[in-house]
Amino acid sequence: MKSYKDLSPSLRTIMTPGPVEVDPRVLRAMSYPILGQFDPEFTELMNETMEMLRDVFQTSNQWAYPIDGTSRSGIEAVLVSVIEPGDKVLVPIYGRFGNLLVEISERCGAEVVLLEKEWGTVFDPQEIIAAIHREKPDIVAIVHGETSTGCVQPLEGIGAACREVDALLVVDAVATIGGVSVQTDAWQLDAVIGGTQKCLSVPSGMAPITYNERVEAKVLRRKTIERGLRENGPAATDAVAAGKPVASNYFDLGQLQDYWSPKRLNHHTESTSMLYALREGLRLVLQEGLEERFDRHKRHEAALVAGLKAMGLTLYGNPTCKLPVVTCIQIPEGIDGESVRAMLLNSFGIEIASSFGPLKGQIWRIGTMGFSCNQKNVLHVLGALEAVLLWHDAAITSGKALQAALSVYAPKEEELPC
Ligand SMILES: *Cc1c(COP(=O)(O)O)cnc(C)c1O
Repeated sequence: MKSYKDLSPSLRTIMTPGPVEVDPRVLRAMSYPILGQFDPEFTELMNETMEMLRDVFQTSNQWAYPIDGTSRSGIEAVLVSVIEPGDKVLVPIYGRFGNLLVEISERCGAEVVLLEKEWGTVFDPQEIIAAIHREKPDIVAIVHGETSTGCVQPLEGIGAACREVDALLVVDAVATIGGVSVQTDAWQLDAVIGGTQKCLSVPSGMAPITYNERVEAKVLRRKTIERGLRENGPAATDAVAAGKPVASNYFDLGQLQDYWSPKRLNHHTESTSMLYALREGLRLVLQEGLEERFDRHKRHEAALVAGLKAMGLTLYGNPTCKLPVVTCIQIPEGIDGESVRAMLLNSFGIEIASSFGPLKGQIWRIGTMGFSCNQKNVLHVLGALEAVLLWHDAAITSGKALQAALSVYAPKEEELPC
């Protein structure tokens, strides 16, 4: 019989836009004993997780809970639950993940209206607001932080415009949650999807979401008596279906919220170890403090950017809309981007990312997210990148990158502002 080696993954320095390194306390949480999903000790952990998610999403929404699946499962759950076949969905796109919103919306039977912006830039919110007034969509779906281009879309004002035409605003904040401020209530976002394996620094496998009463009202309109009855008996018969039924069982928010409510109506089996991990990850985020955490992400971004520029590299994208947690670099003329990435991995144990579609082979992307976002990693990636680029005979300035980054971390006396 074939025998397999012990599992022993290498210790990497992960500087990609996810998955990123995970705090040992989160990994430890995943190794704790299993509890039954209706054990009061476990449902208490579920309730605490909901409480902490409200803080991280900056909302007083009743509903804030994880979908079991990767981040796109959260996107899919929200979209399949709010889009009724024939609904008009406006999707402003400025990168790859905007296309994911289009794809999922189309599969839900939506009439999708696109608004497109050149990659590396974002929309002026006024352009989106004008399109909302013109198109009067049922739903607007947009990405907050585009990991494919390293850009962040300002959302202020869009939520208010949606309410004027009675549209729901759905936001993919997968890349930003826990690293960049996502103000669900202040920006009037109706549903927000977060990710675990990016700035929350929890393994991939859950998608925290939150949504308000406007979304809930639509979801409940689509709940049928028969379906509730079939799985859970008469207790589930309080809703009357007037809308078209949700085409998915696993992702039906109407059923999921019954599961997360005090009713605890049986749906799927909650992913015990992932819930432990998410709870511990959220606890660490709140222990650090949201503002402190956002500031930490900006500080390490500043050091990384200073180092890259000192090396003479050119950043990709409009700097006025740069996403603090992803830095995109133009691959210098004549350099094989994949060869550089391979040497970083094989010789230094560092992973950085390439990109997609039109940017494939054009840029590298360096993530500074969550537990990976620290001084040791930033200095390590700058030193290694300089060495690997010199090895590849790239025309860069040597000897300056680490000094520039160190100056951001510990400015010398004469560099301090007076
Ligand atoms: C990573 C990412 C996703 C997809 O996440 P998965 O966990 O791979 O499903 C969606 N949107 C954005 C903006 C992302 O960065």
